[in-house]
Amino acid sequence: MEHFDVIIIGAGPAGSCAGAMLARAGKRVLCVEKQHFPRFSIGESLLPHCMEFLAAAGLEPALQQQAASQGFQFKNGAAFLKHDFRTAFDFTDKFSPGPGTTFQVKRAGFDKLLADAAEQQGLHIRYGVTVNDISYNANDEVVLAISDDKGEDYQLSAAFLLDASGFGRVLPRLLDLEVPSDFPVRQACFCHIRDGITDPRFDRNKILITVHSDYQDVWFWLIPFSDGSCSLGVVGKQQRFEPALPAGENLWRHVKQTPELAALLANATALNEVQTLTGYSANVRTLHGKKFALLGNAGEFLDPVFSSGVTIALRSAATAVPLVLRELAGEQPDWQQEYSKPLRKGIDTFRTFVTAWYDGRFQDVIFSERRNSGVTAMISAILAGYAWDTNNPYVAETERRLNVLREVCLDAE
Ligand code: FAD
Repeated sequence: MEHFDVIIIGAGPAGSCAGAMLARAGKRVLCVEKQHFPRFSIGESLLPHCMEFLAAAGLEPALQQQAASQGFQFKNGAAFLKHDFRTAFDFTDKFSPGPGTTFQVKRAGFDKLLADAAEQQGLHIRYGVTVNDISYNANDEVVLAISDDKGEDYQLSAAFLLDASGFGRVLPRLLDLEVPSDFPVRQACFCHIRDGITDPRFDRNKILITVHSDYQDVWFWLIPFSDGSCSLGVVGKQQRFEPALPAGENLWRHVKQTPELAALLANATALNEVQTLTGYSANVRTLHGKKFALLGNAGEFLDPVFSSGVTIALRSAATAVPLVLRELAGEQPDWQQEYSKPLRKGIDTFRTFVTAWYDGRFQDVIFSERRNSGVTAMISAILAGYAWDTNNPYVAETERRLNVLREVCLDAE
């Protein structure tokens, strides 16, 4: 049986980042990935905070090189549209220190780029390999039952296991760690379009979030790419979609009901089939256990509205890796205090903002005409991914501050 210091399940952003960091620390690390890259993934708008983790893992130069050759769309903020009211947050004007710009990426190319760059740092990746089971041997090492797409079944062992399997959620399923998310079951219908947008108010350097004309809990993303195409998606509670209709009709029906967006997309043509994802929000009892930790979406996934998924995935990798190194060196890190608690702090900041988005409180703030510039910079920092910066009052006391701010915004109207 082959043995490794660490095995990582999944070569998405969390797996590649953790793998590169561990390989740079001289560890023998294997990543097992079920699919063959490039492969489609949703999650195309990054946040500036994630650039810090890509830099720490040595993956940023490859990304910048690709972006410079027109591969990725520069991103410096988020724009919002509700009826005919438009507003935007510039991430370079933010409260927290750190990068203020990032990219919008087609994930097939982006994930392959990161995985290849991680391999250059010394990570071994095996594609077409699925993890089916986990057990422990007499030395308390993790043993994984593997099958590959050539029909081979075999076992691998490791001193530590990182589950970065995303929506595959390998360990949560095998170890019965799953608990229901606090959020209702929502659905997303999405595709890539040739957008044909000529409206000069559309800023290709920003994601555009549009609120549905009739339902404040239904919203659209429009994520421009560098080649003149866009990712378009609609998100809402499952009941807002007609189960009998094809995904494409569900998407375009909602677009047509939202005149400002329909006008923006008047010349758009679909580049691929509309896909549907339902019930993607997920949670777990614990993010760690005997010789393992969960990274990124394999742990918790909240909601797509603030594009926080990849940033949380990369932050989880960067938080876990130093603890894995200490555990490999014979220490016993306190995973609850040093991993779960600090990681969940930022996730909880986003959770409060997501809840307030759907119940309308945060929309009242975003679409207020009287936002003061200091507060705007604090909100901008969170939207840029800096949801762990407790110097920001909206991180330190999210719920209370947000409620007070909303009252102030409503009074000012
Ligand atoms: P993934 O990127 O999902 O990678 C996991 C990998 O594990 C996959 O390659 C998979 O093939 C592999 N795998 C799975 N099972 C196994 C197995 N048994 N054995 C081996 N390998 C396995 N995030 C953003 O940051 N910005 C956005 O704009 C955004 N939009 C979103 C829109 C929607 C509708 C949804 C649902 C999510 C969105 N997200 C967004 C979230 C984003 O998709 C994820 O948070 C992000 O991809 C998580 O990265 P990861 O590395 O944890 O997992």
